[in-house]
Amino acid sequence: MADVYNWQIKREMSYPFEGNRPQRQGSAVFDLNKCIACQTCTIACKTTWTSGKGQEYMLWNNVETKPWGSYPLAYDAQILDMLGPQSWDGDKYAGQTVFEAVPQGEKVLGFLPNDLDYAYPNKGEDETNNTVDQDTYYLKFPHDNWFFYMPRICNHCTYPACLASCPRTAIYKRPEDGIVLLDQERCRGYRECVRACPYKKAFYNHVTRISEKCVLCFPAVEKGMLTRCMRTCIGKIRTFGFVGTPETADPENPVDFLVHIRKVGLPLMPQLGLEPNIYYIPPIHVASMRFLNMLFGPGAKNAIDAYQKAMRGEDNELLGCLLLNVSSDRIIKKFKVTGETVTGWDMDGNEVAKIPIRMPQIVRPFHDEDLKVYRYNVG
Ligand code: SF4
Ligand code: SF4
Repeated sequence: MADVYNWQIKREMSYPFEGNRPQRQGSAVFDLNKCIACQTCTIACKTTWTSGKGQEYMLWNNVETKPWGSYPLAYDAQILDMLGPQSWDGDKYAGQTVFEAVPQGEKVLGFLPNDLDYAYPNKGEDETNNTVDQDTYYLKFPHDNWFFYMPRICNHCTYPACLASCPRTAIYKRPEDGIVLLDQERCRGYRECVRACPYKKAFYNHVTRISEKCVLCFPAVEKGMLTRCMRTCIGKIRTFGFVGTPETADPENPVDFLVHIRKVGLPLMPQLGLEPNIYYIPPIHVASMRFLNMLFGPGAKNAIDAYQKAMRGEDNELLGCLLLNVSSDRIIKKFKVTGETVTGWDMDGNEVAKIPIRMPQIVRPFHDEDLKVYRYNVG
């Protein structure tokens, strides 16, 4: 075991290999306030990568309804339960990670889901956290009765548990973009990666008898394009790009801006210790801060405050950055807000998006003097 630094838990931790950060890290920020669970991302991925034999149950991208949804069944509850107490000392994690709470002789704390755990991809869909009483129908923030949609893909972790656990060293992390790939020639189907990945984003193909996982659409990323799940996102919830560390954060890079500068993008279950690279803007309507802290760490309250400030029109830079989501099929490397306009440039420095921050509002008079008519649709 080596000691590596994990900035998401603000401390060194044990990991089976020496730390070796890629030159740049493929990453994304998902705004959970905007996901409508249309599953377009799920289908875009499914039809591109997992429509073959033995892949029927595979969802490299899935969208689950929190708090009850999970795929495979209770993947999150099970690993959090196994991990034991997860306390934070401010923003430093004081508990153990899955590499530290590991039983003697194993590399990663994990479990293998059984077949039936993969049988309920819609478990908990649209179910609220609580029963809805008559007096809780009205809208308020946060709301006592809540649910939200959470899209999930492989996190292309900085410290991947799948990679750490593989006895064949068949899994590797590309130095040029941090994408975690599985070499199917080397894999012998031991399913150690399936057992180890706490997000359960490594899958076993029972026809080919080897494992498979999300490839972050690397042929597209190599060309400066968005992945399939990102570019088809109907809700435009996804910012895709490359993320740095807190020390190297570039305020003009949309992902760095959301994660490191405004700190609205938070990792999923950072206490597990993998330094996952898909980030989430927490939902503002959820009344249980305990639940949000469990999922996204101690920064949830600050993230919600910063997000709400932008939505009130008090932070044009953040608003502008979020408006660029899926505004182009190119990866936006740099953005700038000038007055009431946000502009985005791709990896080659070409301008690929220019968007007004506020749409002009036109109010037509109720009584039109010229036409001598009354209108009812005046908004
Ligand atoms: S999410 Fe799972 S499969 Fe993806 S890199 Fe991390 S440990 Fe590996
Ligand atoms: S396509 Fe976008 S809005 Fe639709 S479910 Fe996927 S992440 Fe949510």
